[in-house]
Amino acid sequence: MTEVQPSQRMRDLGVVQHGAEILAEPAAAFELPAEKATAEHVIERLADAMDRIAQAHDFSGKGMGLAAPQIGIARAAATVRPADAGAEPIVLLNPRIVAGSEEMDEQYEGCLSFFDVRGMAPRPLRITVEATALDGTTRITVYERGLARLIHHEIDHLDGLLYTARMRPGVEPIPIGEYRQTGLICSCQAFVQVGAVDQYQGHEARGLSETGQGARR
Ligand SMILES: [Zn+2]
Repeated sequence: MTEVQPSQRMRDLGVVQHGAEILAEPAAAFELPAEKATAEHVIERLADAMDRIAQAHDFSGKGMGLAAPQIGIARAAATVRPADAGAEPIVLLNPRIVAGSEEMDEQYEGCLSFFDVRGMAPRPLRITVEATALDGTTRITVYERGLARLIHHEIDHLDGLLYTARMRPGVEPIPIGEYRQTGLICSCQAFVQVGAVDQYQGHEARGLSETGQGARR
């Protein structure tokens, strides 16, 4: 049996692949709560796709995310499953990064839309994200380290950006085979266990409402 390329496997699972226009365009924001039913439908589609993908590829200990344009829906929704197996998925509607720490790190990322390679991308260690809940209220959440990287990667998709846009000039993605030879145990977006990282929600300070989603307590 010949080995199927990771990118072909993702294509077969319905993940839109690099080169498609939808991945290079900003996704349309939801009008909430008016478009609540539409948003719920997109969230369901994302969850279904992630279930299929998780069956085909082992993301345990790494976390994974999927943005709606990656399943052919040009709307501003993304879901992230944190590396920590017990953590609830994080659903993001109309997310926007409103602040990022000056402190950065650089780690390998993988993207389901071009999964044959891995690339080193610098990102802030901490980001503050504003997103809309289904009821139309705004919430602000701070994410750190591996989770911040995952979420930043997905929000980039909603802005029409791939991680290659974040890579330093002159740095190129490496083939998955070469990446495995580096002996790094971590791959694919999230690189640290997020369990030990303090995360908190900053909505109270801003008088915004809480949806129960977002950072773990
Ligand atoms: Zn991606």
